[in-house]
Amino acid sequence: MKIGVVALQGAFIEHLDLLRRLGVEAVPVRLPADLQDVSGVVLPGGESTTMRKLIHRWGLRDPLLDLATQGAPVFGTCAGMILLSREIVDGDEPVLPLLDVAVKRNAFGRQLDSFEEDLEVPVLGDQPVHAVFIRAPVIERVGPEVDVLARLDDGRPVAVRQRNVIATAFHPELAGETRFHHLLATMAAAFAEPGEGAGRRRHPTRRATGGAETAGTGER
Ligand code: GLN
Repeated sequence: MKIGVVALQGAFIEHLDLLRRLGVEAVPVRLPADLQDVSGVVLPGGESTTMRKLIHRWGLRDPLLDLATQGAPVFGTCAGMILLSREIVDGDEPVLPLLDVAVKRNAFGRQLDSFEEDLEVPVLGDQPVHAVFIRAPVIERVGPEVDVLARLDDGRPVAVRQRNVIATAFHPELAGETRFHHLLATMAAAFAEPGEGAGRRRHPTRRATGGAETAGTGER
């Protein structure tokens, strides 16, 4: 089972290292061919407008959407979350609109450009997650199919999940936090080797998310 880390720009090395430390085969993804046999994908933090351009330029958009639509797990951190959002408030058109949330880039404000916080993330257990925020997006709206996995004290969501798509406004990989990647690897293993009767790619009608239904058809 292989996990691909989109390696066009930003903090991809940290994700590759972390996954490898967990014993997962992790490969950098720059071209569609790099997604061959990949069962899960990480979209790292960095600069979402640059990554967005490079995703288009290297033809990664449709293959990434296809993989997610088939049910492969996708994990986006910070800029990666922006790329996965269905709506970017006052911003670019969405790129991989798999997550029914609206995000606003760099919206925590100047004094909060970067900050760290211990968060409760019940799906990951009792131990809090040490979250590092760097010019992070704010999630302004969460759709009905989206589960909020963690919130700041003021109630704003900062980690979300919609079926096979997980996103955090912060960087777990910069704080030695491994549980999100562990979850991703577990989901990727289940996707790679589904149980009886649930063969991978045998269910073209199985949809990853509502957003992916129109994805890949060139409608956006
Ligand atoms: N501010 C960046 C953006 O809007 C995201 C920052 C990050 O990924 N740490 O693309």
